[in-house]
Amino acid sequence: MNPLFSQLAAARRRLRDSHGRAITDLRVSVTDRCNFRCVYCRTGNEGAQFAELAHADYLRMIRLFVSLGVEKIRLTGGEPLLRAGLLDLVREVASLRTVCTATPQPLDLALTTNGHLLAGMAQPLKDAGLTRITVSMDAVDPETFSRITRVPRSFDRVLAGIRAATDAGLGPVKVNCVLLRGFNDGQIEAFAEFSRRENVIVRFIEWMPLEEASTGEHARKWTKEAVVTLDEIVERLDRYAPAGLGSSGLIELPPNASSETARRYTFADGVGEIGIIAPVSRPFCGHCSRVRLTSDGKIRTCLFSQTDHDLAGRMVRGATDAELSAYIRQVVDRKEARHHIGEPGFEKPSRSMVHIGG
Ligand code: SAM
Ligand code: SF4
Repeated sequence: MNPLFSQLAAARRRLRDSHGRAITDLRVSVTDRCNFRCVYCRTGNEGAQFAELAHADYLRMIRLFVSLGVEKIRLTGGEPLLRAGLLDLVREVASLRTVCTATPQPLDLALTTNGHLLAGMAQPLKDAGLTRITVSMDAVDPETFSRITRVPRSFDRVLAGIRAATDAGLGPVKVNCVLLRGFNDGQIEAFAEFSRRENVIVRFIEWMPLEEASTGEHARKWTKEAVVTLDEIVERLDRYAPAGLGSSGLIELPPNASSETARRYTFADGVGEIGIIAPVSRPFCGHCSRVRLTSDGKIRTCLFSQTDHDLAGRMVRGATDAELSAYIRQVVDRKEARHHIGEPGFEKPSRSMVHIGG
């Protein structure tokens, strides 16, 4: 077939929802276990709640999504580095190629981790074919960091992980920080310095109501007032003069892609990059390109879905690839238009973040 026709035919196969959004981005949770107990995420009392599938099952699901036009895969959890055999899965996914591009291309293959086990795994992950990494780090002050993760002396290990990832060629590393008012919002300027010093992209994420129901000393329950918004972060950083620069003022950078969820900023000398992801104060549902697979093989079409869709169950019952692809299309078609955070009548989703995959 003429290459142009085959490309057009492939583009027509691309997953699209009933709101016209192309779905090109799949997040796959490989476990809902975690070795941290971040106060805004896990209670630490609940542990794993859902099964883990064999890597071959995730791989089959990922292949199906890729055959339907998905081009970005992010492995996540829980904490994905806890999963034995992860490097083999990365290697297999890295060997897949896109189908809707003019020529088949390697996938954009990323991973989100809390970084605790990263120092020893960064180079093997890079060698296995990982293209990008995001490390979550909610404070650059070691004591505040331990109060958030509730794991003593965790900061130095995560910092070593970030540096190892940079050295392995996985840079610029993205460092995700969820700010909680009165808890770690004093760290905003220190994170700007960290971005400039360590050559990482710091991304502040507005806290969403996705925490496990919590009690106890450091428990945090989501409220709108606890969210540190994009406007506040921009205002603070705009007034801030980084060390050695002598002048304040943020400079906005253009988005990297149309589906970019972060607003991007730098400073007058172009050193350091700050991204702000504002799902609460500036929802980006209109150009959402994501769906998620949970560790037990359920499709979630939105972080705030009230139900999951049992892809794994259909696999176990012997569905063919064609039947599974038809099911994926049908599920994606019904992807929610948007979330309703902060609106009257908002209902928490049927799973919390750690059991979905962030
Ligand atoms: N354990 C890994 C980690 O922490 O990077 C991967 C899973 S974690 C659920 C993925 C990301 O979701 C982290 O950057 C974390 O900070 C973020 N996250 C967790 N709960 C959140 C919430 N309620 N609102 C916004 N982001 C959240
Ligand atoms: Fe674990 Fe990540 Fe949740 Fe922290 S944010 S408790 S590291 S899943």
